[in-house]
Parts: sequence; structure tokens; C-alpha cells
Amino acid sequence: MKDVQEVLARLRESEFRSRVHLRKKELDYLNSKGLGTVLKHAEEFIEKRLAPASPVNDGKQTPWRNHPVFVAQHATATCCRGCLQKWHAIPKGQELTTEEKRYVIEVIKAWLSQYESVSKELGAHRAARHA
Ligand SMILES: [Zn+2]
Repeated sequence: MKDVQEVLARLRESEFRSRVHLRKKELDYLNSKGLGTVLKHAEEFIEKRLAPASPVNDGKQTPWRNHPVFVAQHATATCCRGCLQKWHAIPKGQELTTEEKRYVIEVIKAWLSQYESVSKELGAHRAARHA
């Protein structure tokens, strides 16, 4: 496992990863459910799709859209075990530990948080204009 901030800085330098963004649909979903609920979904996705020693369809198990967590996983290279190994130094072929799962959630949370603050600011701005 790497340091979360360090890995996020490296991801921002990746042309491919830094081009991944939430679209309106996922952003609306994040806003309406809230980060806490969305991260609960993340825990379920990680448990089912990423944590097993040999995940089903590994490398293709994460859709590219329709849930903010899926998008976040591609942006943060937590989409499959190959990317986890390459970017986060989490070895393939063994079940994720509790600590590793917590780390993956932490990375996803950090990436999604940037959108939460943006949408809150936009909301506050709108509210102020209408006051
Ligand atoms: Zn991947």
C-alpha cells in the first residue's frame, strides 16, 4: 500500500487517469445520496468485485459509468487487481486484507470529495443569488 496523498498526486500526473471525470448523471447521484451512502456502496463493490483473490472478470469488472464509485475507481486505479498492483503496490492473487480494503475506500473517498466540495459551493452560490 502507498500513501494516499502521494498516490493521488501521481494519478493527477497521469494523462489517462486525470482525464476521467464524473458526468452530470453521476454527480447528481452523488449529490442526492451524499458521500456517506455512496461510500457504503463502494464498500459493497470492493467486497464483491475486488477483494476476492481471483475476482470474476478481473480487469473488466468495473463499468465506466452510471455510478460515481465506478468512475472514481478508474480515476484512482482501484478498478481491478492489475491496477491495484501496479499503482498501489497491493499484490494480486490474494484476498484483500481489511486494511487494504480500508485504504481503497480512502482513495475513492479522497477522489470523490473534490466533487462534493464543488457541488456544495455551487449550491451555496445559487442559494446566495436567490436570497
Ligand atoms: Zn484496472
